[in-house]
Amino acid sequence: MEIQTALREINEAAARRPEGVVFAPIVMEGALEAGALAKVAPYLKARGCASVGLVADANTWAAAGERLAESLREAGIAHAVVRVKPDGQGDVIADERTIVQVLLETPKEARAILAVGSGTIHDVVRFVCAQTDRAFVSVPTAASVDGFTSVGAPIITGGFKQTVPAIAPEAIFADLDVLAAAPRRMTAAGFGDMLGKFTSLADWRFSAEQAGEPFCPLAYELTEQALTRCLEAVDEIASGSARGVEVLMEALLLSGWSMLLVGHSRPASGGEHHLSHHWEMAYLKEGRRQLLHGAKVGVAAVMLAKLYRERLAGAYPAVFGDLPDAERLRTWLRQAGGPSDPGDIGLTEALIGESLREAYLLRDRYTGLKHLALNA
Ligand SMILES: [Zn+2]
Repeated sequence: MEIQTALREINEAAARRPEGVVFAPIVMEGALEAGALAKVAPYLKARGCASVGLVADANTWAAAGERLAESLREAGIAHAVVRVKPDGQGDVIADERTIVQVLLETPKEARAILAVGSGTIHDVVRFVCAQTDRAFVSVPTAASVDGFTSVGAPIITGGFKQTVPAIAPEAIFADLDVLAAAPRRMTAAGFGDMLGKFTSLADWRFSAEQAGEPFCPLAYELTEQALTRCLEAVDEIASGSARGVEVLMEALLLSGWSMLLVGHSRPASGGEHHLSHHWEMAYLKEGRRQLLHGAKVGVAAVMLAKLYRERLAGAYPAVFGDLPDAERLRTWLRQAGGPSDPGDIGLTEALIGESLREAYLLRDRYTGLKHLALNA
């Protein structure tokens, strides 16, 4: 996929069908292709960035950061490398500690910060760039999440996760060679995040119909298209082939752009994401190791698809009647090598019950999950 071509089509469609669109045209430079890493330094030079920060962790430094730093050195671009540190459990978290580290270690003169990594590093960098008025450049190292191109940054402060307004990247360089070399569980997580669109799209329609929440037919269709393309390439994605990773990354970008168009995450985040956020905070509180975002979303999507089909499809067939069978979702996730059942990610019955009752409280948004909790 050529990013500029895709964005031109989206922007033209947004001009034709503006209902619910609050942010258009989307302007984003970059490339999604094999070797895209080599395009970062020329881009920064052309943009006049003589000094940048590069944020990576130990894994993403090895996957792409080191090579990128070398190409910056060759191009004569000054760069400060910020190696974000894991917490006591070995996880890099988008929290106060990591944010302050990036603020402290990015030199004053750096005009841009490169996020080299997956979702967490992107969230930290998008927040710091928004707060310090710097350009944010995205360099994903795995097709693990759809949040690369979004504006909101889910940040954990005082153990509580909240999504704060930040900025979208001005450019994204997604190198297919890097993405294809990522651990299989990361690609599986990206696929899990995409399968979550089944329930997020249903919840979005439900929120519009039941509570009059903002809706955008175009963003709905774009997200649905992204999901359909993934399902058509499920064997390729599951095998981790270069083509599979490309289709998945395209879908994740498309999903991210849909959120950008409407200025909120409803197209891509419904009850399944609220469950995932609830579990994440519970794990943090208990000092347990974090799970990949998409891994939790995949498990939550299986759980909610089953619940929605059993409890809501009869009453609201137009919204929940077309959800796939939970068994179907489970098989797809397993095929991709991701977790599919609560036990796979260490969820206890108590935490599942608590999240089904309380997770809807995390966001002021009407969903099937909220409807069920309120009418229990
Ligand atoms: Zn997600």
